[in-house]
Amino acid sequence: MAIELTWAWLEGYPSLDLANTVIRRGWTEHELITSTADLESWLDAAALPAARPPVVTDDDLHAFLPLRDAALRLLRAAAGHGARHRADVQTLNEHLTRFPEVLILGDHPGTAVSHVIGSPAPFALLLTKLAAAVRDVLIEDRDDLALCDAPGCGQLFFQRRTNQAWCGPACGNRARVARHHAGHS
Ligand SMILES: [Zn+2]
Repeated sequence: MAIELTWAWLEGYPSLDLANTVIRRGWTEHELITSTADLESWLDAAALPAARPPVVTDDDLHAFLPLRDAALRLLRAAAGHGARHRADVQTLNEHLTRFPEVLILGDHPGTAVSHVIGSPAPFALLLTKLAAAVRDVLIEDRDDLALCDAPGCGQLFFQRRTNQAWCGPACGNRARVARHHAGHS
């Protein structure tokens, strides 16, 4: 079954939008970024912490996916689903240390501006900033980070009310229907 690339479920947070590039169809997970065209489409739709390059290459795609995988597993683990792997922490840290960001004094008294060390290509800088967005969610230890454990979803989201189980009502309905069928088969 072809996957519709509408990106309608993206949450509007760079960290979660990065992770939410894998979706369930039923209970099976599907990769949504399989080509540079998919990556372009995601770049158009996602909340980004830095400017995107006008075009992306196969090299960009191959740099994106390992960071996405690490971010996805780390955020899921933080939401109580799956283990936190040291290798994923290393992957994230490699992106963070590649182009460090420091605060330097601005032109006006009492102001500071962010300064990136090195001369990263736009996509490499974007990956470093995405890694930083994921780091911030992980170190804040947000207890509103949740995984929508419904068939056809599996998206990470921030709860808008306490103990919100599903990212939206449609997922709650699908999960109830799935439970009902499981109980009668
Ligand atoms: Zn959902």
